[in-house]
Amino acid sequence: MNAIVIGGGLSGLLAARELARRGMQVTLFESARTFGGAIAGAELGGVTTDIGAEAFAITRPEALELIAELGLTNEVIAPARSDAHLWTEAGIAELPRSLMGIPCDLADPALAKILSEKEIATAQKLDAKDFPSDLDPEITLGELVRLRMGEAVVRRILTPVVAGVHAVDPDLVEAEAVIPGLIARCRETGSLAGAADSFRSASGAPGSAINGLRGGMTTLINALVADLEGVNVKSNRTVTAVRKSKTGWIVETADVSLRTDNVVLALSAPAARRVLRGQDRINAALEKFSVGDVAVVSLVVQSAKLDKAPVGSGVLVDPDQTAVRAKALTHASAKWDWIKETFGPGTHLIRLSYGRNGIIEESLDELPDQARRDAERILGVKLPKVTDSKVTRWADSLVHQRVGHRQNVRALQEAVAAQDGLAIIGAGIGGNGIAGSIAYSRTLADQLGATDS
Ligand SMILES: Cc1cc2nc3c(=O)[nH]c(=O)nc-3n(C[C@H](O)[C@H](O)[C@H](O)COP(=O)(O)OP(=O)(O)OC[C@H]3O[C@@H](n4cnc5c(N)ncnc54)[C@H](O)[C@@H]3O)c2cc1C
Repeated sequence: MNAIVIGGGLSGLLAARELARRGMQVTLFESARTFGGAIAGAELGGVTTDIGAEAFAITRPEALELIAELGLTNEVIAPARSDAHLWTEAGIAELPRSLMGIPCDLADPALAKILSEKEIATAQKLDAKDFPSDLDPEITLGELVRLRMGEAVVRRILTPVVAGVHAVDPDLVEAEAVIPGLIARCRETGSLAGAADSFRSASGAPGSAINGLRGGMTTLINALVADLEGVNVKSNRTVTAVRKSKTGWIVETADVSLRTDNVVLALSAPAARRVLRGQDRINAALEKFSVGDVAVVSLVVQSAKLDKAPVGSGVLVDPDQTAVRAKALTHASAKWDWIKETFGPGTHLIRLSYGRNGIIEESLDELPDQARRDAERILGVKLPKVTDSKVTRWADSLVHQRVGHRQNVRALQEAVAAQDGLAIIGAGIGGNGIAGSIAYSRTLADQLGATDS
């Protein structure tokens, strides 16, 4: 048996490795010159740092398990500081311990810097009520938090965090799609804060809900690529079409047309739809995925004042605060010790992200200047010396898990299950994020084992 994997991001690399281990002859096509997709590095100020994903969730096991399998456990690092801040109408305040912007403890004194006494009392009263047994399973994250904690928690804590991480308004996304198992956990613990706390505590790590890798997340990609024994790896090769034939599948690039028994699309929904021919049912499901763009601006700046990390590891910006266009700022050289040590005092790496609800309103040419102005405002220091910068546009990179998303995933899975030798994984189909991508790539074997209808 042979297989062609299309897409050399994390999902495609995992798929190629898995199929080769099962004894298949595997070819992997990646359109870019380098592998990793949204996990990518670039040289800034002479140091290769992440310009896409920079960390992974430890509230679930998948990423740490893979890292251990690749012998990278010693490279795992906790952030030097995980004191993210919020910029809301209440000013800049530290983000209370939370799960995706859902506070874990409504008696946390940190809440008093963001909410009034009355708003905290309302949240406590609402979340102390019996958890409803007849909750709509498609309830949005915004509605669920509003129901259990009130509007102020939604506006000032949940919204900036969800906008920062998923680039979307929490009133547009399904709670269960963004945090699978959340409603069941609310029922078990009796409250939303209890559920958030139990997810956070599940990692066993007291501090941050994320970890990174020394040298950046490309360390993971480099290890995976090195572990692709027997895989015929082809970068800089865009697949232009995938169609079914009488004896399997045909995969076309600009210069070859190959027959294969199995084909794996490890691509975003729009990229998968662009290549897949003659599969109306699958393409109809792929078309319903709502995806959006984000832009990341990395700046290397000189400022001794930033040595004190005035906003901790970074800031998530409330969308109502229009004085700043960025949706989030990460003070990367304060957050990760290896970056701080490599740059030394007085030199800092700042990352800002742009694009709300999938739309980047700023022109890419203007973004470095805009980012510098936003950074000055957020950090409260003048930054005349920007010594390096890079703008990266990540097109169709984040799936907005809107109401109906899980139903659409099921429709896609059913349509794929009817096609022998076809699997579709990757880029948000199993959820945004490294852990979700790893988990979903594990459905690969089941998908390929499908029988023809
Ligand atoms: C800016 C940004 C920051 C993020 N930060 C985090 C984070 O901190 N933590 C976290 O857990 N997650 C984060 N994520 C999400 C995480 O990076 C992704 O969920 C994950 O990397 C997706 O991997 P993938 O392989 O499924 O998709 P991708 O990485 O999108 O890979 C798809 C690959 O397919 C290739 N391709 C596309 N079309 C073709 C074609 N026709 N032929 C051949 N190849 C093709 C692309 O070039 C790409 O390499 C972030 C994402 C972005 C965009």
